[in-house]
Amino acid sequence: MRIVLFGPPGAGKGTQAHRLADRMDLALIATGDIFRANVANDTDLGREANSYMDKGELVPDDVVVRMVLDRLDEEDAHHGFILDGFPRTLPQAQALENELAERNRPLSAVLKFSVPDEVAVKRLAGRRTCRRCQRSYNVEFKPPRTDRVCDVCGGELYQRDDDHEDTVRHRLEVYHHDTEPLEFYFWERGLFRQVEAEGTEDEVTDRALEAISDLLEDG
Ligand code: AMP
Repeated sequence: MRIVLFGPPGAGKGTQAHRLADRMDLALIATGDIFRANVANDTDLGREANSYMDKGELVPDDVVVRMVLDRLDEEDAHHGFILDGFPRTLPQAQALENELAERNRPLSAVLKFSVPDEVAVKRLAGRRTCRRCQRSYNVEFKPPRTDRVCDVCGGELYQRDDDHEDTVRHRLEVYHHDTEPLEFYFWERGLFRQVEAEGTEDEVTDRALEAISDLLEDG
């Protein structure tokens, strides 16, 4: 199974991506996580990406596409994957579609997690992220069991620079302008379902699984 997740920052994509990948035994490929790991390790890619991430801008398509296509060649991704945060532009979607067609491994489903902008802003203001495994918490809605420590891996929780309100608002604008049009692109291909992303994590996961099985039945 090859699944794409998209939606505005703050929709809970990352959390749902972890849950769905565990449940369905799929490789999880989250482009934001890969960039943050590169920033933490101070690699050339990390330095280049950070100059865009800091401002809430998108990293240029050629950089992201190259990175994702390399990752898709790794062994675990051959058995199926969840892409979280990619594609985010039309050229990225076209590059992905062409590569997968060449490898005879077309996408199975594209899910958009939707929440109103004001909910997204509120969620991100309180978000804390694990430095080690990148899982998300929220000081108000989903606090960790121990203050500033990840429940799952024990890593340190921190606030991402791009989760400050003015950057969040810019990321939402970029999302509406560059990423939201992908909805129509994937809808035309019969791959698209929208998932209402308010409610408990379990409720959203159930809706996502239902949307995936709907698409598989239709396909
Ligand atoms: P995320 O963790 O998905 O919110 O991504 C954090 C940041 O990484 C984004 O605001 C972008 O700067 C960059 N990024 C992640 N994925 C992509 C992508 N597919 N295209 C361009 N930039 C990306």
